[in-house]
Amino acid sequence: MRNSVSSLLAYAVLVAASVSLLSQPAGARQGQATSSSQTNAKPEDTEVWEPVPKVVTPGPTCGAPPSDAIVLFDGKNLDEWVSVKDKSPAQWTVSDGVMTVNKAVGSIETKRAFKDYQLHVEWRVPENISGTGQARGNSGIFLASTGTGDAGYELQVLDVYNNKTYVNGMAGSIYKQAIPLANPCRKPGEWNVYDIVWTAPTFNGDGSVKTPAYATVLFNGVLVENHYELKGETLYIGKPFYKAYTSAPIKLQAHGDKSEPISFRNIWVRPLE
Ligand code: MG
Repeated sequence: MRNSVSSLLAYAVLVAASVSLLSQPAGARQGQATSSSQTNAKPEDTEVWEPVPKVVTPGPTCGAPPSDAIVLFDGKNLDEWVSVKDKSPAQWTVSDGVMTVNKAVGSIETKRAFKDYQLHVEWRVPENISGTGQARGNSGIFLASTGTGDAGYELQVLDVYNNKTYVNGMAGSIYKQAIPLANPCRKPGEWNVYDIVWTAPTFNGDGSVKTPAYATVLFNGVLVENHYELKGETLYIGKPFYKAYTSAPIKLQAHGDKSEPISFRNIWVRPLE
């Protein structure tokens, strides 16, 4: 009797299992096939051999331009730069391997235009800096300069070593849009380093946004913007919005505040398109 009860039970369990298997969606049943194909899989099945990445020789030190970089400033001259307002040769001061903002002549921008890129820039606020808030070593790197003045997308440059200001206007901020994730600013007199990945916005034929812009920024090796999706151009007043463009120069800001001018060195870019 016990035997026939247990056979009956075993049979019931089997029937229940089959019904449950048949009532599963096709995808779940395919899971069984996948696991059997995993059993037969070879390591070679998931190896990819093409396309082969190009060889890039890194710089001798981290921060030095790699072999495929376009060097925008190597300490010698401003041949890659023009004045924003009239496209005449850039008139900032070059001395001791460093370029220094000339506030009297205004902002400068690259002769070349870019879309997506990796950018390296080093900047230094002078040791004798004066002023407070936004009027203390203010400059900026416009990741795309879409017009004269401050038109475009500004990654802020400012002395924020013990200098309080609105947090979406600190160094490392996407101006008036993205608060930096940390404040790793070095003190005045020391060099700061930005390593930036810029994904340019793209636009449809009617000027509407196809894909927004993204910025990733390392500030002295510390992540301060993590694939941040921009809301449009950076504006001093008002809400940001996009304006269609295809490629644009990179602009360095001569800010109108009265504090001592800041300096830049070792600027290079790797276009990614
Ligand atoms: Mg600025």
